[in-house]
Amino acid sequence: MLCEILNSGLLKFSEYKKILFLRKIIGQKADSWLVLNKITQFLQNQPLPLFFIYMIWNESYECLSRKEMLELQGKRLRNTVERVYHNSPFYRNKMQELGLSPEEIESVEDLVKLPFTVKNDLRDQYPFGLFSSPMSEIVRLHASSGTTGKPIVGGYTRKDLNIWSEVMARTFSAGNCDRSDIFQIAYGYGLFTGGLGAHSGAERIGASVIPISSGNTEKQIQLMTDFGTTALCCTPSYALYLAEMIKKMGVESKLKLKAGFFGAEPWTDGMRKELENKLSIKAFDIFGLTEIIGPGVAFNCSEQNGLHFNEDHFIPEIIDPHTLKPLPPGEVGELVITTITKEGMPILRYRTKDLTSLNYETCQCGRTLVRMDKIRGRSDDMLIIRGVNVFPSQVESVLLEFSEAAPHYHLFVDRINNTDVFEIHVEVRPEFFSDHLSQMLDLKKRIAHRLQSVLGISAEIKLVEPRSIERSTGKAKRVTDKRNIYKQV
Ligand code: ADP
Ligand code: ZN
Repeated sequence: MLCEILNSGLLKFSEYKKILFLRKIIGQKADSWLVLNKITQFLQNQPLPLFFIYMIWNESYECLSRKEMLELQGKRLRNTVERVYHNSPFYRNKMQELGLSPEEIESVEDLVKLPFTVKNDLRDQYPFGLFSSPMSEIVRLHASSGTTGKPIVGGYTRKDLNIWSEVMARTFSAGNCDRSDIFQIAYGYGLFTGGLGAHSGAERIGASVIPISSGNTEKQIQLMTDFGTTALCCTPSYALYLAEMIKKMGVESKLKLKAGFFGAEPWTDGMRKELENKLSIKAFDIFGLTEIIGPGVAFNCSEQNGLHFNEDHFIPEIIDPHTLKPLPPGEVGELVITTITKEGMPILRYRTKDLTSLNYETCQCGRTLVRMDKIRGRSDDMLIIRGVNVFPSQVESVLLEFSEAAPHYHLFVDRINNTDVFEIHVEVRPEFFSDHLSQMLDLKKRIAHRLQSVLGISAEIKLVEPRSIERSTGKAKRVTDKRNIYKQV
């Protein structure tokens, strides 16, 4: 309803916000659009709108006072620590090593006593060592790239899936979408969390969902125009590519898009402006990771000033990546996350390696959920190429499987026409370097094939002569990334 009125152009979005006390008086839930419509009609008759409307999916949790939030987090943290201590030998051992018993964790202040979890712990516990529920209660498995050949696994109970769709519903409501919207989910479906995560949130708000998955650009554009898509979910780089193709096909005027929910990779404010102009939308940043739940960990509201962190489910901390000590609000450091409601795979103090800062001021939108600054970089060497996490160590472990290849390689990443280009130079051992083109072509094909299956994306392999890759005297520089994706524009 609200969106129909917005789309009708009778009122501009900026005129269209309301203050929280009205919501409080009416006790409006996200479903009661009839009430909201009445308010909207009322507002239309006001010479100067007094009220500002922000759609909030779950006000009972998104607008708690700090005191209420800390109490809730403390309670949920205690439950989680109990749960992992009793159900996960991994965490029990870790806590016992620190001489820590579950009773010692009483409030959020005690969080710092808990052990960190890192990506390698997930690799070592592959596949299900971190689960705190029996497999009979796990109803879904997802996976993302690990640092070497083994993927990072996420296991969900039914309740976890419910939490996931809840946090995604918050994300889409914050972008002013509701049951009147048509969602095109162009994140990949399958093992990646993007597609199904966005899908469940869009269904939860009652929108019509097009589960098209990623790729197949012409079809994307055809459905977008034929079905009247109003909300697009994909990586920001793919959205830019789509925008370009739309222009090329001359179908801009047929679009009904109003919102884009972009994430899974870093993007700049410059890119946001470009997307908003090219697609005539408001573009929202969404953040998440498989280890925690997938997309839906944090989201932009229409203020677009930081990402609200769903801290009633996931507690964020910022630490100095070197000293591992907590940093005060506003300071940039490594984001560490503790899940406090998940059953399947709860995780304590996960070191994301993502660099950002936190802002506890209440947002204009009325949400009190802490805001995370957009991701400013990584404290490790992970690359995100076409939305997929790639570690140089993965490439190395594949190359080591080939006796013909020397352990000298270099990764080149660039963005050309809004598409990530990925090239790997691989040095061939002298005894295998051959003038026989067919032999070299065969080796190149085998390496490319194996890398594709391990990384989940394709790379252009270039075999180079022995000793042609520069040797370093210190830490080897194995990556040249020309994209500057973390750069502020
Ligand atoms: P996803 O499917 O969201 O990419 P992964 O677990 O594969 O989930 O990757 C998570 C990583 O992706 C994060 O740790 C972060 O580095 C990056 N990422 C996800 N969303 C964003 C975003 N909105 N901005 C910047 N980086 C992001
Ligand atoms: Zn806000």
